Amino acid sequence: MTTTESSDAADRARRLQRVAELLAEAITPQEVLDAILTDGVKAAEARAGAIGVLTEDGENIELLAQRGYDASVMTGWETFPLSAEVPMSEVIRTGEPLFLASVAERNERYPALSEQGQDGHALVVVPLAVEGRVFGGMSLSFDRDIDFEPERREMKLTLARQAAQALARSRLYAAEQTLRERMTFLAEASELLSSSLDYNHTLSQLARLSVPGLADWCTIDIVSPQGEIERLAVAHEDPEKVRWAYELQDRYPPDPDAPTGVPHVLRSGEPEFFPTLPEELLDEAIGDDEELRRIIDELGLKSTICVPLIARGRTLGALTLIAAESHPHYTQADLALALELARRAALAVDNARLFGEAERGANAARALAYVADGVVLLDHDGRVHHWNPAAAAITGVGEDKALGCPVADVVSAWNALTSHVPLVPPGAAARPVTVPIVLEGRERWVSVSGVEFEDGTVYALQDVTEEHALEKTRSDFVATASHELRTPLAAVYGAVRTLRREDVELTSDDRAAFLEMIESEATRLAKIVDQILLAGQLDADAVELELTECDPQQVAAAVLESASVHVPESIDLDLDVDRAVSVRCDENKLRQVLVNLVDNAVKYSPQGGRVELRVRSSNGSCLIEVADEGLGIPSDERDRIFEKFYRLDPQQTQGVGGSGLGLYICRELVERMDGRLSVESEPGKGSRFTVELPLRR
Ligand code: ADP
Repeated sequence: MTTTESSDAADRARRLQRVAELLAEAITPQEVLDAILTDGVKAAEARAGAIGVLTEDGENIELLAQRGYDASVMTGWETFPLSAEVPMSEVIRTGEPLFLASVAERNERYPALSEQGQDGHALVVVPLAVEGRVFGGMSLSFDRDIDFEPERREMKLTLARQAAQALARSRLYAAEQTLRERMTFLAEASELLSSSLDYNHTLSQLARLSVPGLADWCTIDIVSPQGEIERLAVAHEDPEKVRWAYELQDRYPPDPDAPTGVPHVLRSGEPEFFPTLPEELLDEAIGDDEELRRIIDELGLKSTICVPLIARGRTLGALTLIAAESHPHYTQADLALALELARRAALAVDNARLFGEAERGANAARALAYVADGVVLLDHDGRVHHWNPAAAAITGVGEDKALGCPVADVVSAWNALTSHVPLVPPGAAARPVTVPIVLEGRERWVSVSGVEFEDGTVYALQDVTEEHALEKTRSDFVATASHELRTPLAAVYGAVRTLRREDVELTSDDRAAFLEMIESEATRLAKIVDQILLAGQLDADAVELELTECDPQQVAAAVLESASVHVPESIDLDLDVDRAVSVRCDENKLRQVLVNLVDNAVKYSPQGGRVELRVRSSNGSCLIEVADEGLGIPSDERDRIFEKFYRLDPQQTQGVGGSGLGLYICRELVERMDGRLSVESEPGKGSRFTVELPLRR
């Protein structure tokens, strides 16, 4: 070795040392590439250099960076197949370095390249490998033809080793960095997704969170309950572009049968991943719409990932990530991230929907808790699934006892109750049937209707016992009233017929008696008719009261006096007055009330006895009592006698007539005078009705 040669070698060693130092400092892949392609290339005395690495699938080589080559030479070589008959592919395939002294040598070995870079000279391509695994190659071009002697070769190989180490380390570092970023992103996304139950809002935010870190464009589509695809969110850093994307969507609505893209992912439930969006695919989607082609070209779509949002086996929507102007092509790692993100988003949507459903269910149950109708939901096996409080009240069986049990076991009368109920399909008019049943020893009238639907049967129960009783009282009244009207009418008619008979001689006393009878029966008729009219007016709230100061003792005395004229002899009338008091009331109405009570007292004392009218004051009230020693009223009827048309003995077995309206009218009138009407009684011993009116002070 000559002195020059040895000093050259020392020089190269120094330069190599320098590159090694620079590479040790470089952290990111970009810094490493920069160091290799500037200082490394220089140290190797090369004119230009390029670095290519194997793509993820191991089928292609991607040119990571180059320096010194003419851009035109590199066009079309951004990625090329590993199988290509070119130096870099071969070196990566074989792991053997390649030293070509001149273009002539290169062309001889790679005839396919003979058309390219004719003005070049020596070329070296060395494999980049770590731990025996080749992951890329470095090419170095020189500005002269060189026969690479071993020492020079060794120097290039050393550079390649250093470069490979540094590059692999920086790529690992970058990958770890990306992983860390992804974990952070996923954590942020999860937090966002669990922050609210308004999934429309959270998904829109998720889309925004994904740009630009994860994508240039992120869209989220949701399948509506009607099965339509709804674009829920479009995100891009530029809001102008987002608006434009929505417009585009309106102009070119997605074809639900499209063989690729969101519709396909939604149909198949499978992700769709295009590391590089195939030209044919775009061509197919665009067809010959020039406008659309211009738009798509402008978008510069590179790579896409579309993943389904699946929860509990149902595809709820799709998340699409698009790499366009700035984001690099997607990798398997990106797909994995997108899948994980979609899994979490789907879970959030599903949870929000489930929560919504549960809430709706709870609201429905809450509403059902307040309705007056009993609502009973049975499954196909007749087991109770819902039993609202009204159902519990009607049947006397609590929800805790009914739920989950066969209904026939919890309510023994269930079959009797429902066997005649026609079950209609949902939406059809329910056809209620009213059935009498004995529940817990009480006879109840229950109106039942039933709807049969997919999951079972729902019954609505209504306790119509009271309505039924009212109806019965009403029909009893018709019988009573017609009887009541018919009796005096028959008497009047009979009397008139007799008076007109010419064949019968009547004394003047007879005539007088008949006329008297006509008069009293007509009065009785008028009274019944008056009561019916007054009850109607009270119902319509059309009775006007004239409240004045009045003396109840006087009224009571007058009532007794006129009663004394016509009471049977077996009755003793009595008036007992405590001391002079004054009340504010409608005197006529009070009289009417007392007349009625006294009439009743007399009427319901068929065996005779004492009827006492007593006026006294107590605790700021004036109490007017009408007491008799007659039939009395059983305790369970004491409330009902004040109901309209209610009579203890509608069939009049005791032979006492009446409309059943008197006490109803009395109570209504007394209450309108701010008073109360009550009764105490001992059956067989007598009754005491008390009118209580506030004393005037
Ligand atoms: P009616 O026209 O039948 O007398 P009321 O409304 O005045 O109607 O009375 C309702 C029912 O209350 C009567 O049918 C009767 O059975 C009962 N009743 C009312 N007053 C008395 C009384 N003093 N003693 C016993 N029963 C009475």
